[in-house]
Amino acid sequence: MSGQEFFQAGERVGVQTTQPLDRLLDYRAPEGGCFLGAYVEVPLGPRKVLGVVWGPGAGDFDSAKLRSVIRVLDVAPMRTEMRQFLGKAADYTLTPMPAMLRLATRAPGLSDPPSMRKILRRGEGTPDRMTDARRRVLEVLEQYGGLAFTPRELADMADVTPSVVKGLVKQGALREEEAPRDTPYPHLDPELPSKQLTEDQARAAAALAEGVRSGRYGTTLLKGVTGSGKTEVYLEAVAAALRAGRQALVLLPEIALTAEFLTRVEARFGAKPAEWHSGATMTERRRVWKMVGQGAAQLVIGARSALFLPFRDLGLIIVDEEHDTSYKQEDGVLYNARDMAVLRAAMCSAQVVLASATPSLETWANAEAGKYQRLDLTSRFGASVLPEMRAVDMRSEDLLPSTWISPTLKQAMKLRLERGEQSLLFLNRRGFAPVTICRACGAQVACDHCDARMVEHRFMKRLMCHQCGETKPVPEVCPSCEVEGKMAPVGPGIERLAEEATSLFPEARIAVLSSDLFGSARALKTRIEEIAKGEADIILGTQLVAKGHNFPMLTLVGVIDADLGLQGSDLRAAERTFQLMRQVAGRAGRAERPGEALMQTFQPEHPVIRAILSGDEESFWKAEAAERQAAGVPPYGRMAGIILSGSDLAAVFDLGNAMARNDGPLRQIGAQLFGPAPAPIARVRGRHRVRLLVKAAKGAPLQEAIARWTAPLRLKGDLRLSIDIDPQSFF
Ligand code: ADP
Ligand code: ZN
Repeated sequence: MSGQEFFQAGERVGVQTTQPLDRLLDYRAPEGGCFLGAYVEVPLGPRKVLGVVWGPGAGDFDSAKLRSVIRVLDVAPMRTEMRQFLGKAADYTLTPMPAMLRLATRAPGLSDPPSMRKILRRGEGTPDRMTDARRRVLEVLEQYGGLAFTPRELADMADVTPSVVKGLVKQGALREEEAPRDTPYPHLDPELPSKQLTEDQARAAAALAEGVRSGRYGTTLLKGVTGSGKTEVYLEAVAAALRAGRQALVLLPEIALTAEFLTRVEARFGAKPAEWHSGATMTERRRVWKMVGQGAAQLVIGARSALFLPFRDLGLIIVDEEHDTSYKQEDGVLYNARDMAVLRAAMCSAQVVLASATPSLETWANAEAGKYQRLDLTSRFGASVLPEMRAVDMRSEDLLPSTWISPTLKQAMKLRLERGEQSLLFLNRRGFAPVTICRACGAQVACDHCDARMVEHRFMKRLMCHQCGETKPVPEVCPSCEVEGKMAPVGPGIERLAEEATSLFPEARIAVLSSDLFGSARALKTRIEEIAKGEADIILGTQLVAKGHNFPMLTLVGVIDADLGLQGSDLRAAERTFQLMRQVAGRAGRAERPGEALMQTFQPEHPVIRAILSGDEESFWKAEAAERQAAGVPPYGRMAGIILSGSDLAAVFDLGNAMARNDGPLRQIGAQLFGPAPAPIARVRGRHRVRLLVKAAKGAPLQEAIARWTAPLRLKGDLRLSIDIDPQSFF
């Protein structure tokens, strides 16, 4: 820890805790002293809380009452650059520091005493009787030289019962030692052979590797159609980081994708990397957190919160599928992992690679403006080519009522079945039917607590609210007019589409991939692997299937409702639809068989649909960019959403109106304020929601103005205020 400031026992230190207080607290450094950045346990009232030594104490607290740090935790102190990163991230997202620190210490059992386990080494003694089994155990130890093993590992490796090992301990032939439970990750070897890269790929890989070797900050957009080898390319950037002795982080948008990715890392570097996501066990998460801090995990694969791990020397961050909306955390601390990755990299002189087939407009614009480097992979690897894309004009298709698969699409599916290939039908709607309506009075079944319609989920025989998760049985009697037996489902959900597909092709094997049909990430992963092996003829999927799964036998994609994303009032609706449709279409024809994508639409002349079909992405982006620029909205202007909520609607509006009257700090920076107005989702879990939108010019000090604007507010009762800088979705 050379160069790190040290506080002697009894010296005053300022501690940042995870408790909701708006200042540092003064304590005395404990016996033995502590480093700046040390993770500590401190007394707060009657409790013990977690904190970090943030600097010298302010000294304004009565020294007679000053209490001591209870103890220093057995983990590497927080690095200065991490403290600065958390500070900047807090300022950017207008998040209080304690919440930021909670995000950075979200490892179970961090404050547990260092946990130990027994390991065995060769002892001085010789066994009284040398049996075959005993000899095997001693041979294993000899074979592995200086290594030590737990009793269970040793018994397994020597193929003996645990009692044999116990016997050898008793006789002194094996010696017991205590060793820390959290062990380093296996070494990753960048010198193992990589795949033979194509010229295109090699050029991109070399450019990324050069960036990593420079040891400086830089961000690169790595753009390439699905299957062009982006992953192969950025794994070479990872290799460059490993060679430079620095750590790398790969963010993936979906846990279900990690399994395939781990296998590829193992094939390239000879061992599996560390994993950080909600599917990992508590023990595993604690191990990752600790080892990352000691530099004993070279590569971490993770979800967005992995950005807040205490890396010792992070040299590279990959954000795969950078446009994915799941990078935006929508509750608690509202941050966009893509933007935070760039911030963090800038603070630790690391490189960022943003990989996507369909980048976000923000990233595209940053590359246009020369802020990011841009590398393009123009063709798909090997024989695979992009699928042919066509619109199916639904105005001229003959469909029976309550069916959604057009004759054209049906014909294409039939052809795939005959050839033994797979078809994928895409419909981004979970459940059986989005609406349940009374055919007598026309009333729709809505959630009692939210401003949302209840969605029928037939597999669980209930209606469900997708806002709050509340469920209830499908009513026999209309809740509104009390007529019996008239409730009917309207519109298609993925489950209803499955029924239709089954009746069209009763002999086909049909698989439904929807997040709520799987109990766990593991179950979903298994199912995806089975499908990839060919254990389904027709796959029906929601948003879930748009992301990077590999289905080699898939040659047809049918988009049931290409218009679905176009009608939203969201400023990103066109961009989202464009990305989603292209990603889905990218699923077809990954192997040697060419693919086809059919999009069912009632508006084939819509600019977004036309851009998707023409494949002319640059002109789509240019048009979209021009529109946003004219409107002064992101990425050419800045926005912030303020959501006020509470159980009393009048009180929520009163607060909103008071804020609108006192908008001096906003006017000073030339920002415009819209609202208060009911939020697009006006009620969730019985709480009313009211929204204010702030719009400012690109260079305006938006956060600082909002901080001054909201600071004087005192929220009464159950009123809550949440600030969303750069809102992604307009809830
Ligand atoms: P992307 O990340 O752009 O979707 P991948 O890196 O996953 O593309 O590549 C798609 C498929 O092609 C993978 O199975 C990958 O292993 C294979 N592939 C890509 N480039 C090469 C190469 N140079 N040599 C061998 N296989 C490759
Ligand atoms: Zn609800």
